[in-house]
Amino acid sequence: MTNRFRFLACSNCATTYPTDYHSRCTKCGGILEAHYRLEGKFPTDFERRSMWDFADFLPPVKEENVVSLGEGWTPHVPSPNFAKRVGLRHVWCKLEGCNPTGSFKDRTASLGLSLVREWGKKGVFAASDGNAGAAISAYSARAQVRCLILISEDAPTQKLAQIMIYSPTLLRVRGLYESASSLESALAQAQDVLPDWLNLFIWAPFNPLLVEPYTSIAYEIALNKEIPDYIFVPVAGGELLSGISRGFQELREMGMLDRTPKLVAVQGKGADPTVQAIEKGLDKVLETGPPVTVAGAIRVNFGAEHSIKAVRKSGGFGISVTDEQILNAQKQIARDEGIFCEISSAVALAAISEALSLGKMGADETATTILTGAGLKDYLSTDADLSRAPISESVSSLSMTLKKVIATGRTEVAA
Ligand SMILES: [Zn+2]
Repeated sequence: MTNRFRFLACSNCATTYPTDYHSRCTKCGGILEAHYRLEGKFPTDFERRSMWDFADFLPPVKEENVVSLGEGWTPHVPSPNFAKRVGLRHVWCKLEGCNPTGSFKDRTASLGLSLVREWGKKGVFAASDGNAGAAISAYSARAQVRCLILISEDAPTQKLAQIMIYSPTLLRVRGLYESASSLESALAQAQDVLPDWLNLFIWAPFNPLLVEPYTSIAYEIALNKEIPDYIFVPVAGGELLSGISRGFQELREMGMLDRTPKLVAVQGKGADPTVQAIEKGLDKVLETGPPVTVAGAIRVNFGAEHSIKAVRKSGGFGISVTDEQILNAQKQIARDEGIFCEISSAVALAAISEALSLGKMGADETATTILTGAGLKDYLSTDADLSRAPISESVSSLSMTLKKVIATGRTEVAA
């Protein structure tokens, strides 16, 4: 097979740009999109070793330049107990937490560090307190490439620990995430100081190529044969959703699918600028006040139009859920299916119940939730409260205490 990448072009005015171009269209401000040759059939006989099975549908990278830790081909798990509880015919969970650093960002970090080698760059930089920071740091270590991660002044230590173990250069920046323009300014200054380093900030308006690895999530779901009616996607910048959308569109153009799933953009209430824009019928995302939600990985007050377009094109909708709904869903999927996802992933699960109760979907339909990160990355510390577990005061009294515990059902599982 040969690589099918053609060019980057503006999604509004179709002006083409070099593959390594980093920004919006200079003529009309549109977001750029990658284009591929889509003639022939989509291949189906993969070895299922990593996302690089789909290398022909990614920006071109020579095989010797690929930086991989085995990312991709995450499980797409039927979740019948959860489906029954929420009252939907079928639910699958796409476990992106099974990627090497525990989140979907590994797909992009793998492409990003491979491009560093392909393009002969000296290092990488990005802004992220969380999953992207961990993924880019890990893949930089794998590639033995220098890495700078900009983080906020008060970055949460739970996720920082994972970033720091890979030993990137860290710089705390006060006000980093105040607005899209503050982020843009920080990254532009980093690029000025480090002209030979690659900006790996994962946001299509800055970095259109980094959406590309998320098409592989659509390919993997489609290769599982049964296509869900809906895909629920947690949204911060919107890259994951727009990448999945692109993947399904490509499969449809290649004749592999006769229909594509409706995409649902999910955010936390209090940090839902993209959902608001979809509901109001706007063509761009308006910046809101300081974002407040328990879902830290999608706590944003800005967004971009690519995710709005992707949702509309698919016939889907946007929905936001409360902290209480999110935290309940995180516990429920663990009890129902043995799946521990991070808080920001549970928004997708919580949104199914909300969508059903609002009549946005029917009980006889099916849905996949994209569970973006592993549970150990982000959970409430109160969930590890020992006082909720009964105690046997000595080993010799264990059997007596255990009989009482079993009889009264005082265990967390039965609660
Ligand atoms: Zn343009």
